Amino acid sequence: MARVTVEKLTKKFGDVVAVRDLDLQVEDREFMVFLGPSGCGKTTTLRCISGLERPEGGTIRIGDTVVNNLSPAVRDIAMVFQFYALYPHMSAGENIAFPLHARRMPGNEVQRRVNEVARVLRIEHLLQRRPRQLSGGEQQRVALGRAMVRRPKVFLMDEPLTNLDAKLRSEMRAELKRLQKDLNATTVYVTHDQVEAMSMGDRIGVMKQGGIEQIGTPDEVYNHPASLFVAGFVGRPAMNFVPAEYRDGAEPSLFLADGAFALPVDDRWATAIRERATGNTFTFGIRSEDIALYTEPGQDRIPSEVYVMEPLGDVNLFDLKLGEQIIKAKTLPNFRLRIGDRVWLQPDHDKMHLFDAQTERAIF
Ligand code: ATP
Repeated sequence: MARVTVEKLTKKFGDVVAVRDLDLQVEDREFMVFLGPSGCGKTTTLRCISGLERPEGGTIRIGDTVVNNLSPAVRDIAMVFQFYALYPHMSAGENIAFPLHARRMPGNEVQRRVNEVARVLRIEHLLQRRPRQLSGGEQQRVALGRAMVRRPKVFLMDEPLTNLDAKLRSEMRAELKRLQKDLNATTVYVTHDQVEAMSMGDRIGVMKQGGIEQIGTPDEVYNHPASLFVAGFVGRPAMNFVPAEYRDGAEPSLFLADGAFALPVDDRWATAIRERATGNTFTFGIRSEDIALYTEPGQDRIPSEVYVMEPLGDVNLFDLKLGEQIIKAKTLPNFRLRIGDRVWLQPDHDKMHLFDAQTERAIF
Protein backbone atom coordinates (compact mmCIF):
# COMPACT_ATOMS: atom_id res chain seq x y z
CA MET A 1 0.00 0.00 0.00
CA ALA A 2 1.05 3.60 -0.31
CA ARG A 3 0.80 7.19 0.74
CA VAL A 4 -0.85 9.71 -1.61
CA THR A 5 0.66 13.19 -1.69
CA VAL A 6 -0.87 16.12 -3.53
CA GLU A 7 0.96 19.44 -3.75
CA LYS A 8 -0.47 22.68 -5.13
CA LEU A 9 -2.98 20.86 -7.33
CA THR A 10 -4.87 23.14 -9.74
CA LYS A 11 -7.47 22.00 -12.27
CA LYS A 12 -9.48 24.32 -14.52
CA PHE A 13 -12.34 23.71 -16.94
CA GLY A 14 -12.27 26.78 -19.20
CA ASP A 15 -12.85 29.72 -16.87
CA VAL A 16 -13.98 27.51 -13.97
CA VAL A 17 -11.26 26.78 -11.43
CA ALA A 18 -12.49 23.45 -10.05
CA VAL A 19 -9.48 22.88 -7.75
CA ARG A 20 -7.11 25.59 -6.59
CA ASP A 21 -3.64 25.08 -5.04
CA LEU A 22 -4.76 22.05 -3.07
CA ASP A 23 -2.29 20.40 -0.67
CA LEU A 24 -3.04 17.03 0.86
CA GLN A 25 -1.33 13.99 2.29
CA VAL A 26 -3.18 10.69 2.68
CA GLU A 27 -1.14 8.35 4.87
CA ASP A 28 -0.47 4.72 4.04
CA ARG A 29 -3.55 2.64 5.02
CA GLU A 30 -5.56 5.72 5.90
CA PHE A 31 -9.27 6.17 5.10
CA MET A 32 -9.49 9.78 3.95
CA VAL A 33 -12.87 11.30 3.14
CA PHE A 34 -13.42 14.42 1.02
CA LEU A 35 -16.58 16.07 2.26
CA GLY A 36 -18.19 19.15 0.80
CA PRO A 37 -21.19 20.61 -1.03
CA SER A 38 -21.96 19.99 -4.67
CA GLY A 39 -19.43 21.62 -7.00
CA CYS A 40 -16.65 22.16 -4.45
CA GLY A 41 -14.16 20.04 -6.42
CA LYS A 42 -14.23 16.66 -4.65
CA THR A 43 -14.70 14.53 -7.75
CA THR A 44 -12.23 16.57 -9.76
CA THR A 45 -9.54 16.07 -7.10
CA LEU A 46 -10.21 12.34 -7.09
CA ARG A 47 -10.13 12.16 -10.89
CA CYS A 48 -6.80 14.00 -10.93
CA ILE A 49 -5.37 11.45 -8.48
CA SER A 50 -6.70 8.62 -10.66
CA GLY A 51 -5.32 10.12 -13.87
CA LEU A 52 -8.73 10.59 -15.51
CA GLU A 53 -8.16 14.37 -15.45
CA ARG A 54 -4.91 16.14 -16.22
CA PRO A 55 -4.23 19.03 -13.83
CA GLU A 56 -2.88 22.40 -14.99
CA GLY A 57 -0.55 22.61 -12.02
CA GLY A 58 0.78 20.70 -9.04
CA THR A 59 2.33 17.35 -8.27
CA ILE A 60 0.64 14.05 -7.41
CA ARG A 61 2.63 11.23 -5.84
CA ILE A 62 1.59 7.67 -5.11
CA GLY A 63 4.20 6.27 -2.78
CA ASP A 64 7.41 7.95 -3.90
CA THR A 65 6.46 8.05 -7.58
CA VAL A 66 5.30 11.24 -9.28
CA VAL A 67 2.34 10.02 -11.34
CA ASN A 68 1.34 13.21 -13.21
CA ASN A 69 2.44 11.78 -16.53
CA LEU A 70 1.38 8.18 -15.92
CA SER A 71 -1.82 6.82 -17.43
CA PRO A 72 -4.57 5.61 -15.03
CA ALA A 73 -3.81 1.99 -15.93
CA VAL A 74 -0.28 2.09 -14.53
CA ARG A 75 -1.00 4.14 -11.39
CA ASP A 76 -1.98 0.97 -9.51
CA ILE A 77 -5.26 2.39 -8.23
CA ALA A 78 -8.82 1.08 -8.32
CA MET A 79 -11.86 3.30 -8.64
CA VAL A 80 -15.39 2.62 -7.43
CA PHE A 81 -18.05 4.99 -8.70
CA GLN A 82 -21.60 5.88 -7.78
CA PHE A 83 -22.78 4.21 -10.99
CA TYR A 84 -21.20 0.78 -10.93
CA ALA A 85 -20.85 -0.28 -14.55
CA LEU A 86 -20.92 -4.08 -14.38
CA TYR A 87 -20.83 -6.05 -17.63
CA PRO A 88 -24.45 -7.24 -18.03
CA HIS A 89 -23.62 -10.35 -20.07
CA MET A 90 -21.15 -11.69 -17.49
CA SER A 91 -21.94 -13.35 -14.16
CA ALA A 92 -20.93 -11.64 -10.91
CA GLY A 93 -17.94 -13.98 -10.66
CA GLU A 94 -16.84 -13.22 -14.22
CA ASN A 95 -17.19 -9.50 -13.56
CA ILE A 96 -14.92 -9.79 -10.53
CA ALA A 97 -12.42 -11.94 -12.41
CA PHE A 98 -12.31 -9.65 -15.44
CA PRO A 99 -9.35 -7.41 -14.40
CA LEU A 100 -7.29 -10.53 -13.61
CA HIS A 101 -8.04 -12.23 -16.95
CA ALA A 102 -7.09 -8.94 -18.62
CA ARG A 103 -3.68 -9.40 -16.98
CA ARG A 104 -3.46 -13.00 -18.14
CA MET A 105 -3.28 -14.38 -14.63
CA PRO A 106 -3.40 -18.24 -14.45
CA GLY A 107 -6.93 -19.63 -14.05
CA ASN A 108 -6.47 -21.30 -10.66
CA GLU A 109 -4.99 -18.11 -9.16
CA VAL A 110 -7.92 -16.07 -10.58
CA GLN A 111 -10.37 -18.50 -8.99
CA ARG A 112 -8.57 -18.33 -5.65
CA ARG A 113 -8.65 -14.53 -5.60
CA VAL A 114 -12.30 -14.28 -6.70
CA ASN A 115 -13.32 -16.72 -3.95
CA GLU A 116 -11.33 -14.82 -1.36
CA VAL A 117 -12.89 -11.47 -2.31
CA ALA A 118 -16.38 -13.02 -2.48
CA ARG A 119 -15.92 -14.44 1.01
CA VAL A 120 -14.90 -11.05 2.43
CA LEU A 121 -17.84 -9.33 0.70
CA ARG A 122 -20.25 -12.14 1.60
CA ILE A 123 -21.37 -12.69 -2.01
CA GLU A 124 -20.11 -16.26 -2.50
CA HIS A 125 -23.67 -17.47 -3.15
CA LEU A 126 -24.22 -14.81 -5.85
CA LEU A 127 -21.22 -15.48 -8.09
CA GLN A 128 -23.22 -17.33 -10.78
CA ARG A 129 -25.88 -14.63 -11.17
CA ARG A 130 -25.96 -11.92 -13.81
CA PRO A 131 -26.06 -8.26 -12.62
CA ARG A 132 -29.77 -7.88 -13.42
CA GLN A 133 -30.51 -10.73 -11.00
CA LEU A 134 -28.87 -8.80 -8.15
CA SER A 135 -30.14 -6.00 -5.89
CA GLY A 136 -28.46 -2.59 -5.96
CA GLY A 137 -26.46 -3.36 -2.83
CA GLU A 138 -25.33 -6.73 -4.19
CA GLN A 139 -24.29 -5.12 -7.48
CA GLN A 140 -22.31 -2.54 -5.55
CA ARG A 141 -20.53 -5.31 -3.65
CA VAL A 142 -19.65 -7.01 -6.93
CA ALA A 143 -18.26 -3.68 -8.19
CA LEU A 144 -16.21 -3.42 -4.99
CA GLY A 145 -15.01 -6.98 -5.51
CA ARG A 146 -13.86 -6.15 -9.02
CA ALA A 147 -11.88 -3.21 -7.59
CA MET A 148 -10.44 -5.23 -4.69
CA VAL A 149 -9.39 -8.33 -6.59
CA ARG A 150 -6.43 -6.57 -8.16
CA ARG A 151 -5.05 -5.54 -4.75
CA PRO A 152 -4.21 -2.03 -5.88
CA LYS A 153 -2.07 0.38 -3.87
CA VAL A 154 -4.91 2.89 -3.51
CA PHE A 155 -8.71 2.78 -3.65
CA LEU A 156 -10.53 5.85 -4.94
CA MET A 157 -14.27 5.86 -4.26
CA ASP A 158 -16.72 8.45 -5.55
CA GLU A 159 -20.03 8.40 -3.66
CA PRO A 160 -20.28 4.60 -4.03
CA LEU A 161 -23.27 4.30 -1.66
CA THR A 162 -25.45 7.11 -3.04
CA ASN A 163 -27.81 4.89 -5.02
CA LEU A 164 -28.62 2.54 -2.16
CA ASP A 165 -31.63 2.83 0.11
CA ALA A 166 -31.13 4.19 3.62
CA LYS A 167 -30.97 0.84 5.42
CA LEU A 168 -28.55 -0.76 2.97
CA ARG A 169 -26.46 2.38 2.97
CA SER A 170 -25.94 2.26 6.69
CA GLU A 171 -25.08 -1.47 6.50
CA MET A 172 -22.63 -0.91 3.65
CA ARG A 173 -21.07 2.02 5.53
CA ALA A 174 -20.10 -0.31 8.33
CA GLU A 175 -19.02 -3.05 5.91
CA LEU A 176 -16.83 -0.74 3.85
CA LYS A 177 -15.17 0.63 6.94
CA ARG A 178 -14.45 -2.85 8.23
CA LEU A 179 -13.27 -3.98 4.81
CA GLN A 180 -10.88 -1.06 4.48
CA LYS A 181 -9.30 -1.96 7.82
CA ASP A 182 -9.11 -5.68 6.96
CA LEU A 183 -7.43 -4.91 3.63
CA ASN A 184 -5.18 -2.18 5.08
CA ALA A 185 -5.91 -0.25 1.91
CA THR A 186 -5.14 3.44 1.48
CA THR A 187 -8.52 4.87 0.51
CA VAL A 188 -9.78 8.24 -0.67
CA TYR A 189 -13.56 8.48 -0.49
CA VAL A 190 -15.72 11.31 -1.82
CA THR A 191 -19.10 12.17 -0.35
CA HIS A 192 -21.39 15.10 0.37
CA ASP A 193 -23.02 13.11 3.19
CA GLN A 194 -21.56 14.19 6.50
CA VAL A 195 -22.84 11.08 8.30
CA GLU A 196 -20.82 8.92 5.90
CA ALA A 197 -17.78 11.13 6.39
CA MET A 198 -18.01 11.15 10.19
CA SER A 199 -18.69 7.44 10.50
CA MET A 200 -16.10 6.12 8.05
CA GLY A 201 -13.16 8.48 7.79
CA ASP A 202 -9.95 8.27 9.80
CA ARG A 203 -9.69 11.89 8.72
CA ILE A 204 -12.02 14.21 6.84
CA GLY A 205 -10.93 16.89 4.39
CA VAL A 206 -13.76 19.42 4.31
CA MET A 207 -13.72 21.12 0.89
CA LYS A 208 -15.07 24.48 -0.19
CA GLN A 209 -14.73 26.17 -3.58
CA GLY A 210 -11.85 24.07 -4.87
CA GLY A 211 -9.78 24.13 -1.68
CA ILE A 212 -9.53 22.29 1.61
CA GLU A 213 -11.04 24.29 4.44
CA GLN A 214 -9.96 21.92 7.22
CA ILE A 215 -8.44 18.45 7.53
CA GLY A 216 -8.88 16.57 10.77
CA THR A 217 -10.27 13.54 12.52
CA PRO A 218 -14.07 13.40 12.78
CA ASP A 219 -13.70 14.51 16.39
CA GLU A 220 -11.55 17.53 15.45
CA VAL A 221 -13.81 18.61 12.62
CA TYR A 222 -16.94 18.27 14.74
CA ASN A 223 -15.70 19.66 18.04
CA HIS A 224 -13.09 22.14 16.81
CA PRO A 225 -14.29 23.45 13.44
CA ALA A 226 -11.71 25.84 11.99
CA SER A 227 -14.26 28.04 10.24
CA LEU A 228 -17.90 29.01 10.09
CA PHE A 229 -18.28 26.94 6.93
CA VAL A 230 -17.04 23.72 8.56
CA ALA A 231 -19.12 24.37 11.68
CA GLY A 232 -22.26 24.80 9.59
CA PHE A 233 -21.61 21.87 7.24
CA VAL A 234 -20.76 19.15 9.77
CA GLY A 235 -23.45 18.08 12.24
CA ARG A 236 -27.23 17.70 12.09
CA PRO A 237 -29.06 19.76 13.03
CA ALA A 238 -26.56 22.39 11.91
CA MET A 239 -24.77 24.39 14.60
CA ASN A 240 -26.79 27.39 15.83
CA PHE A 241 -25.28 30.72 14.78
CA VAL A 242 -26.08 34.05 16.44
CA PRO A 243 -24.53 37.44 15.55
CA ALA A 244 -22.48 38.70 18.50
CA GLU A 245 -20.63 41.85 19.49
CA TYR A 246 -17.76 41.83 21.96
CA ARG A 247 -17.38 44.55 24.56
CA ASP A 248 -14.24 44.66 26.69
CA GLY A 249 -14.15 46.31 30.13
CA ALA A 250 -14.64 45.33 33.75
CA GLU A 251 -16.79 42.37 32.71
CA PRO A 252 -15.87 41.41 29.13
CA SER A 253 -19.02 40.10 27.44
CA LEU A 254 -20.48 38.97 24.17
CA PHE A 255 -23.76 40.67 23.33
CA LEU A 256 -25.92 38.28 21.37
CA ALA A 257 -28.80 38.92 19.01
CA ASP A 258 -28.44 42.69 18.51
CA GLY A 259 -27.33 43.26 22.08
CA ALA A 260 -30.43 41.70 23.61
CA PHE A 261 -28.46 39.25 25.77
CA ALA A 262 -25.07 39.55 27.46
CA LEU A 263 -22.86 36.50 27.89
CA PRO A 264 -19.87 37.15 30.18
CA VAL A 265 -16.64 35.56 28.90
CA ASP A 266 -13.70 34.26 30.91
CA ASP A 267 -10.04 35.36 30.64
CA ARG A 268 -9.19 32.62 28.17
CA TRP A 269 -11.85 33.84 25.75
CA ALA A 270 -11.05 37.51 26.28
CA THR A 271 -7.35 36.86 25.54
CA ALA A 272 -8.14 34.84 22.41
CA ILE A 273 -10.43 37.59 21.15
CA ARG A 274 -7.82 40.32 21.78
CA GLU A 275 -5.10 38.29 20.06
CA ARG A 276 -6.95 36.88 17.07
CA ALA A 277 -9.99 38.98 16.19
CA THR A 278 -9.94 41.49 13.32
CA GLY A 279 -12.77 43.55 14.87
CA ASN A 280 -15.42 43.29 17.56
CA THR A 281 -18.15 41.57 15.57
CA PHE A 282 -18.49 37.80 15.58
CA THR A 283 -20.74 34.84 14.93
CA PHE A 284 -21.40 32.92 18.10
CA GLY A 285 -21.93 29.16 17.59
CA ILE A 286 -23.41 26.46 19.80
CA ARG A 287 -24.64 22.95 18.94
CA SER A 288 -28.15 21.90 19.87
CA GLU A 289 -26.87 19.23 22.27
CA ASP A 290 -24.69 21.75 24.13
CA ILE A 291 -27.57 23.90 25.36
CA ALA A 292 -29.27 23.11 28.68
CA LEU A 293 -32.91 24.16 29.08
CA TYR A 294 -34.56 25.29 32.31
CA THR A 295 -38.10 26.24 33.17
CA GLU A 296 -36.85 28.85 35.70
CA PRO A 297 -34.61 31.89 35.28
CA GLY A 298 -31.10 31.81 36.80
CA GLN A 299 -27.58 33.17 36.47
CA ASP A 300 -26.28 33.17 32.87
CA ARG A 301 -29.57 31.77 31.62
CA ILE A 302 -30.97 33.38 28.50
CA PRO A 303 -34.76 33.82 28.32
CA SER A 304 -36.58 32.50 25.27
CA GLU A 305 -39.88 31.03 24.14
CA VAL A 306 -40.83 27.66 22.64
CA TYR A 307 -41.61 28.08 18.97
CA VAL A 308 -42.15 24.40 18.33
CA MET A 309 -41.16 21.04 19.84
CA GLU A 310 -40.30 17.98 17.74
CA PRO A 311 -40.41 14.72 19.74
CA LEU A 312 -38.02 12.40 17.87
CA GLY A 313 -38.30 9.44 20.21
CA ASP A 314 -34.77 9.27 21.58
CA VAL A 315 -34.56 13.07 22.00
CA ASN A 316 -36.80 16.12 21.82
CA LEU A 317 -35.71 18.85 19.46
CA PHE A 318 -36.86 22.34 20.45
CA ASP A 319 -37.02 25.38 18.20
CA LEU A 320 -36.67 28.35 20.55
CA LYS A 321 -37.17 32.03 19.81
CA LEU A 322 -34.21 34.16 20.77
CA GLY A 323 -35.14 37.67 19.73
CA GLU A 324 -35.92 37.32 16.03
CA GLN A 325 -33.87 34.15 15.74
CA ILE A 326 -34.65 30.46 16.09
CA ILE A 327 -32.23 28.34 18.12
CA LYS A 328 -32.40 24.55 18.14
CA ALA A 329 -31.81 22.67 21.39
CA LYS A 330 -31.91 18.93 22.14
CA THR A 331 -33.22 17.51 25.40
CA LEU A 332 -34.04 14.14 26.88
CA PRO A 333 -37.44 12.85 25.75
CA ASN A 334 -39.03 13.41 29.17
CA PHE A 335 -38.46 17.20 28.98
CA ARG A 336 -41.70 18.47 27.47
CA LEU A 337 -43.03 21.99 26.90
CA ARG A 338 -45.77 23.53 24.80
CA ILE A 339 -45.68 26.13 22.06
CA GLY A 340 -45.38 29.60 23.60
CA ASP A 341 -43.99 28.41 26.98
CA ARG A 342 -41.19 30.46 28.53
CA VAL A 343 -37.87 28.63 28.76
CA TRP A 344 -34.34 29.61 29.80
CA LEU A 345 -31.35 28.33 27.92
CA GLN A 346 -27.78 28.01 29.07
CA PRO A 347 -24.96 27.24 26.64
CA ASP A 348 -22.21 24.91 27.91
CA HIS A 349 -19.24 27.29 28.26
CA ASP A 350 -16.77 24.58 27.23
CA LYS A 351 -18.66 23.89 24.00
CA MET A 352 -19.15 27.42 22.72
CA HIS A 353 -17.61 28.54 19.41
CA LEU A 354 -16.80 32.02 18.17
CA PHE A 355 -16.04 32.98 14.57
CA ASP A 356 -14.63 36.27 13.33
CA ALA A 357 -17.38 38.07 11.37
CA GLN A 358 -14.85 39.28 8.76
CA THR A 359 -12.63 36.26 8.16
CA GLU A 360 -15.16 33.59 9.30
CA ARG A 361 -12.22 31.75 10.95
CA ALA A 362 -12.64 30.29 14.44
CA ILE A 363 -11.36 32.43 17.30
CA PHE A 364 -11.62 29.36 19.53
P1 ATP B 1 -20.72 16.90 -6.74
O1 ATP B 1 -20.85 16.50 -5.31
O2 ATP B 1 -21.92 17.62 -7.26
O3 ATP B 1 -20.26 15.78 -7.63
P2 ATP B 1 -18.00 17.94 -6.62
O4 ATP B 1 -17.59 18.57 -5.35
O5 ATP B 1 -17.53 16.57 -6.88
O6 ATP B 1 -19.56 18.05 -6.80
P3 ATP B 1 -16.74 18.60 -9.11
O7 ATP B 1 -17.53 17.63 -9.92
O8 ATP B 1 -15.33 18.29 -8.81
O9 ATP B 1 -17.50 18.93 -7.76
O10 ATP B 1 -16.82 20.01 -9.87
C1 ATP B 1 -16.09 21.16 -9.45
C2 ATP B 1 -16.41 22.30 -10.39
O11 ATP B 1 -15.89 22.04 -11.68
C3 ATP B 1 -17.89 22.58 -10.58
O12 ATP B 1 -18.07 23.98 -10.70
C4 ATP B 1 -18.20 21.88 -11.88
O13 ATP B 1 -19.28 22.51 -12.54
C5 ATP B 1 -16.91 22.05 -12.66
N1 ATP B 1 -16.67 20.93 -13.58
C6 ATP B 1 -16.44 19.65 -13.23
N2 ATP B 1 -16.23 18.87 -14.33
C7 ATP B 1 -16.32 19.70 -15.40
C8 ATP B 1 -16.19 19.51 -16.82
N3 ATP B 1 -15.91 18.31 -17.35
N4 ATP B 1 -16.36 20.59 -17.60
C9 ATP B 1 -16.63 21.81 -17.08
N5 ATP B 1 -16.75 22.05 -15.75
C10 ATP B 1 -16.61 21.02 -14.93
